[in-house]
Amino acid sequence: MRQTHFLNARLADGTLADLAVTGGRFSAIAPAANAAAPPAGAVDLAGQLVLPAFVEGHIHLDTSFYGDAWRPHIPCTDGFDVRERVAFQMRSLEQAAPMDERAKNQLELCVGHGSLAMRSHVMVDAAVGLKHVETILGVREKYRELIDIQLVAFPQSGILSSPGTAELLDEALKLGCDLIGGLDPASFDRDVNGHLDVVFGLAERRGVGVDIHLHDGGTLGLFEIEEICARTAAMSMQGKVAVSHAYALGDISADTLARAGEMLAASGVAIMTNAPGNHPFPPVAALRKAGVTVFAGSDNIRDSWWPYGDGDMLNRANMIGYRSAFYEDRELEAACDLVSHAGAKALGLEGYGIAVGAKADFVALKAEHVPEAVVAVPRERTVFRRGMLVARDSRMTS
Ligand SMILES: [Zn+2]
Repeated sequence: MRQTHFLNARLADGTLADLAVTGGRFSAIAPAANAAAPPAGAVDLAGQLVLPAFVEGHIHLDTSFYGDAWRPHIPCTDGFDVRERVAFQMRSLEQAAPMDERAKNQLELCVGHGSLAMRSHVMVDAAVGLKHVETILGVREKYRELIDIQLVAFPQSGILSSPGTAELLDEALKLGCDLIGGLDPASFDRDVNGHLDVVFGLAERRGVGVDIHLHDGGTLGLFEIEEICARTAAMSMQGKVAVSHAYALGDISADTLARAGEMLAASGVAIMTNAPGNHPFPPVAALRKAGVTVFAGSDNIRDSWWPYGDGDMLNRANMIGYRSAFYEDRELEAACDLVSHAGAKALGLEGYGIAVGAKADFVALKAEHVPEAVVAVPRERTVFRRGMLVARDSRMTS
């Protein structure tokens, strides 16, 4: 079995270690030996910090224009409106470059920065049918050696308000999507139970997890989160359900938030945030303290929802830390956790981390420790997949 050695790797605890990788997994982690005759082919990391490869917990591979022509953002006519944004998106996509090209551009951007696991939502509705799912499944297959991708069958145009979508979602799961998505059951479909009946019904029938886009704020959004938690607990789906965005958690009182945190932790529902600039977003520290799994994603990159995003999850950790006023080392470490270990937990990844037996998917970068990595976001870094170099300085090597 192929064995590779990495010398002088700085671990999260600050110590220097030599790492051995056998058959794509860490087979030994020992204090740096500074041996006079290192093993043949050994890679000297020269004291660089080694982090487990980042987890991109929420992205849209089908709707990004990254690498395509620049498309100026069109604002909503009267404040943020999901339905209007979806209409803008449909118009923009009609003029976009082929989807597989755009998806590959975005994937390579993410891998280049060190994300080797990803969850992408893929649009399913009566207008596009399964076209997006089929294309992105093809892209996933081409990149399977390089990155692990989970796909969410995502009803971007609602379920009840887009007749035929429930059947298409079922087909998407049969084709290979790993999770069933949802979208604002109240404000979009105006039928919380009807929407969640379809989502959780499909989850049960196909044995898949759930990841719901929830932009609804305040008590309405909180009510939907309560319903999602209740169904998750009733179906014993702890650890398999996530709510993406959950803006409501960012605009409720501290007492209400404390109760919501307890409920989310008890029912095993994870929360994804990208700390968007124009919305209240879930209070990361309070939720983590309550025992909630909070993870992160880029969400949209250069698409019709907004022009921002660079596919760098370390930069995302920086943004979330900045918006959360994380200054202390332990807080900066928490920001990094959102894009690494917590993300792996939310996605249910096997063999994650810098540990003997774990998959040797890691990033080496110039930083003294995790807090410095989060604030400095070094672009100079190398990315290894199963112990093999796949990217250097934010670009894929092959
Ligand atoms: Zn999204």
